[in-house]
Amino acid sequence: RTVYVNGVFCPEDEGRISIFDRGFLFSDGVYEVTSVVEGRLIDFANHMARLRRSMAELALKAPAGEDALLSIHRALVDKNALTEGLIYLQVTRGAADRDFLYPPEETQPSLVLFTQAKSLIETSAATTGLSIVTLPDLRWQRRDIKTVQLLYSSMAKMEAKRRGASDAWMVEDGLVTEGSSSNAYIVDASGTLVTRPLSHAILPGITRTAVLRLAEETGLAVEERAFTVEEAKAAREAFITSASSFVLPVVTIDGARIGNGQPGTITRRLRAIYLEEALKTAI
Ligand code: PLP
Repeated sequence: RTVYVNGVFCPEDEGRISIFDRGFLFSDGVYEVTSVVEGRLIDFANHMARLRRSMAELALKAPAGEDALLSIHRALVDKNALTEGLIYLQVTRGAADRDFLYPPEETQPSLVLFTQAKSLIETSAATTGLSIVTLPDLRWQRRDIKTVQLLYSSMAKMEAKRRGASDAWMVEDGLVTEGSSSNAYIVDASGTLVTRPLSHAILPGITRTAVLRLAEETGLAVEERAFTVEEAKAAREAFITSASSFVLPVVTIDGARIGNGQPGTITRRLRAIYLEEALKTAI
């Protein structure tokens, strides 16, 4: 694989980052994951807008302009002959002598990008659906910032796997926040799509924005409110969204079957509509 590290494209085993990089020492960094389908970038502008916001919230200096970032993404697609998969981008505050205080202004941020070839459209999860376990949401209180501080999310996913499930939904004050790396939705008995409103409690998913807009355009009732685990278990359908999974059905929650235990009709339709739209607007 060819990767990008601070201005250079190089073979992956030649990419070097300082041991003093604050991403390494403090998780002082943010990231984005953009999906690539048919060699094109899905929803790129919105990923870059969220990156800008994440950097602003942490007073991180932008390592490059948006045009340059687009060029790097495209170069990595070409150099790696990537037709389907992901591009990971990470910005950290850069390398400085270890100190809780931010380093001097002139410290250069680090910018790293790499690709991961992966089947995104034809996956078994899309046909069989996901099994979810619920776990307490023990992450920090600024989940709206896409930081590289992902340890609890990683622990939650491990615990889900240990229990034989595909993933975890996190719960705070009895209400579902989101998935370990996705936004969470249910379709209630009246056919209304329910998902948690944006706040500091969840990441403003790029796929979430697109799916909610498409749901409304197709005449589906959408309610942005938090829902309980009990509501989710009794829901007609449940699903997740993320840039790497698009829309994926959830078929069990803590062992309880959702609907008839098969991917729901509305979920499958939203996945199809989302994919169609994403491909039409990919760049
Ligand atoms: N919530 C969390 C915690 C995430 O890590 C992600 C990203 O994958 C999402 C939601 C979904 O966001 P997006 O649709 O932008 O990938």
